[in-house]
Amino acid sequence: MSPHAASRHAELIQRLDLPSKVRLLTGGSGFSLCPEERIGLAEMHVSDGPTGVRGLIFIGGREVTLFPNATLLASTWDPAVLAEVGGLLAEEAKAQSVSLVLGPTVNLHRSPLGGRLFECFSEDPYLTGVLAAAYINGMQDQGIGSCPKHLVGNESETLRNTMNSVIDEQTLREVYLLPFEIAVARSRPWSIMAAYNQLNGVTATENAKINIAVLRREWEWDGVLVSDWFATTSTAPSANGGLDLVMPGPNGPWGEALVSAVQRGEVDEGTIDEHLARLLLLAERTGRLDGPAVDDPDAPGPDSPVRREQMTRLAARGMTVLSNADATLPLASEQRIALIGRHAIETIGMGGGSAQVNTPHQVSVADAMADRFAGLTITDGVEFRARPTRARTQFLTDPETGAPGLRLTRHARDGRVISSEPTLVAATTVEVDDDVDHVSFTAVVGGDGPVMLGGTGVGDFTLSAGGSTFELSVPPSGEGFAEDLLAPPGEAREIDPGSHRTVTLTARPAFDHAGNAAYVGLIARPGLRDDGAAIADATAAAADCDVAVVVVGLSEEQETESVDKTTLALPGRQDELVRAVAQVAARTVVVINAATPVLMPWLAEVDAVIVAGLPGQEAGAAITAALLGEIEPAGRLVTTWPVADVESAAWTVTPDAEGDLVYAEGTFIGHRAHHEELQPAPAFWFGHGLGYTTWSYEKAVLSEGDAPGVRVELTNAGDRDGTEVVQLYLDPDDSSQPVRLVGWTVEHLAAGETRTVTVQADPIMLRTWQDGWTSLPLEGRLLLARGLGDIRAELRLSAT
Ligand code: BGC
Repeated sequence: MSPHAASRHAELIQRLDLPSKVRLLTGGSGFSLCPEERIGLAEMHVSDGPTGVRGLIFIGGREVTLFPNATLLASTWDPAVLAEVGGLLAEEAKAQSVSLVLGPTVNLHRSPLGGRLFECFSEDPYLTGVLAAAYINGMQDQGIGSCPKHLVGNESETLRNTMNSVIDEQTLREVYLLPFEIAVARSRPWSIMAAYNQLNGVTATENAKINIAVLRREWEWDGVLVSDWFATTSTAPSANGGLDLVMPGPNGPWGEALVSAVQRGEVDEGTIDEHLARLLLLAERTGRLDGPAVDDPDAPGPDSPVRREQMTRLAARGMTVLSNADATLPLASEQRIALIGRHAIETIGMGGGSAQVNTPHQVSVADAMADRFAGLTITDGVEFRARPTRARTQFLTDPETGAPGLRLTRHARDGRVISSEPTLVAATTVEVDDDVDHVSFTAVVGGDGPVMLGGTGVGDFTLSAGGSTFELSVPPSGEGFAEDLLAPPGEAREIDPGSHRTVTLTARPAFDHAGNAAYVGLIARPGLRDDGAAIADATAAAADCDVAVVVVGLSEEQETESVDKTTLALPGRQDELVRAVAQVAARTVVVINAATPVLMPWLAEVDAVIVAGLPGQEAGAAITAALLGEIEPAGRLVTTWPVADVESAAWTVTPDAEGDLVYAEGTFIGHRAHHEELQPAPAFWFGHGLGYTTWSYEKAVLSEGDAPGVRVELTNAGDRDGTEVVQLYLDPDDSSQPVRLVGWTVEHLAAGETRTVTVQADPIMLRTWQDGWTSLPLEGRLLLARGLGDIRAELRLSAT
């Protein structure tokens, strides 16, 4: 900050008395910060992040663009892609007067069980940091603030509000703090979010060692440190521990309690002024301190051709070809395709929790492929959901208009109808002071057979369908109100409404006053099918086609905030389905609609496997473009895919009886542990990905320059243009030091083209923490690799 701005902010702060200053340090509402007219401070709006700008309403708000998920974007390994995404998110923010976007999520893929990995880029700290910096720069260059999260050691969800991540100092510095350090050094984020968990016994919102000693002093960071939502549990310890802003508001542990703490001398008023100065700097950066703000209501809508093209391209590019025998992929549109699987029909575009947005559409694979293949059959697959979730609106129509969706009516305590409107989201949140007594959802359900119907969220429900009425009651899960909002429990039953297919669910939400809000939604989906019959139908279709394309995957109840997984196995009888299809089909392609590793016991029985991630609103279109090769699925894995449960660098995500989760693998995260043979070779290495062409690496030599590096002649040896990610790893001789990614470059080459490429080690990766940063001895091997399972050149480094 310039000295001039600093003195101006100090002068503004002096105009306010203590209570007025403290008031500004807690949010004004769930997703806004308090204005203060007397000093020209406008209200600032914040929004999740990270894969779409949802706006200020958690459920059922404005329809916005749903981006591909973080692992899919990161699988491009391309900072230019992440910079583009940051810029597009800024456009989405400007359209809604949002000043600060709560992302990117830069926690790491430590155990593959982590429920929130879909939101995080990678297991690798360096890849994560570089991509995060590109995303943040792309966003902030357009005047919108970003908020990398969650500082620090927040790699799992189990008991996340209380668990204690136990991480030794070297591991903390070299692995878990590193993405934040790179982001701060290379993109100066305007805010950072402090996590829910404790680190080595100190909760993140009070951790002065991280928040002050590291962030402020060592890294000289000048942004706003904001708490995760409801994470702050103390007054003086958090205010003195480096936290600037408590979210959400207007209530919370600061307010009057903080004023009293200052008056009692527990917190220095100068500390309050420092927090406020940072908030004013954020306001100035985003044009909310005497303007002008960078709002732009004319940004393209989620349905616009430009957004649809961008979302399709970004998603397809990150998709990763794991195997592809006899060039089974790409497909040709004249082939007779048997498309099989529930995920083909109910394609999952996003994960669960706060990263969700209200999207106007999610294109399924079935819809997109139907437009492109003349000889296509579509066969539903086996059940994969573990619990009933809110209805997908493709299954519903509004009884009043006949349009897709449903009708949501809010009733006041005095019996008045507050509102009745069509919606595409079969759920809503109700605020405690909304004067809502109950809400009702009315819809005509699809199909002509039995239907699974019920209520989701905590409360009492009355369901009317097929001339009958049922009462259902859903108790709290016991995990906390936020968890009940993010992964809502539900109750459903199978009902045959016959020909009267209009159903009404009346929901009386139960409030937990700590949270001020409750969530209720309608469960409605086709009745359960017999899995055996589904497999029989699938094999019949597969026996009569050129290629069977089976779409399998996880669900947003598994890849979600607030819940971890317990296995990497595909849910339900999906493995059996794939095996049965592979036995009869001439060729079998498996599309994995999941962000994180799954087990593939049938891998040797199928011809090709492609990981599609959670591809966002254009999911089906992007998968189709990738399968046809219209856009090369040029992704490289961002995380190691283990061969079996448990066989990964870290596995358990359950804290011990004391609440401790010990990061015992130290700096040997992910592929580093497999390379050191601490774990068996994985099914697929971090960095693996075939694309649609082949690459040769010739004449590799050490390059000249300030940092060690390699020069190589790279040739696209195939007959299709393609993109290669040339990865450079350092494998130190000192076996206490893990192999590590130290650099990479993304190269687009025409078929047959040769290019001389140099990749240098980034100096930030040539350090080790031994009571302070020290240079890593440059003794070891430099490896050029397409993932460590496919090393293309090895060059010896020795001390000079
Ligand atoms: C999440 C944050 C998110 C916040 C606001 C929390 O539950 O951990 O990542 O930004 O909610 O929705």
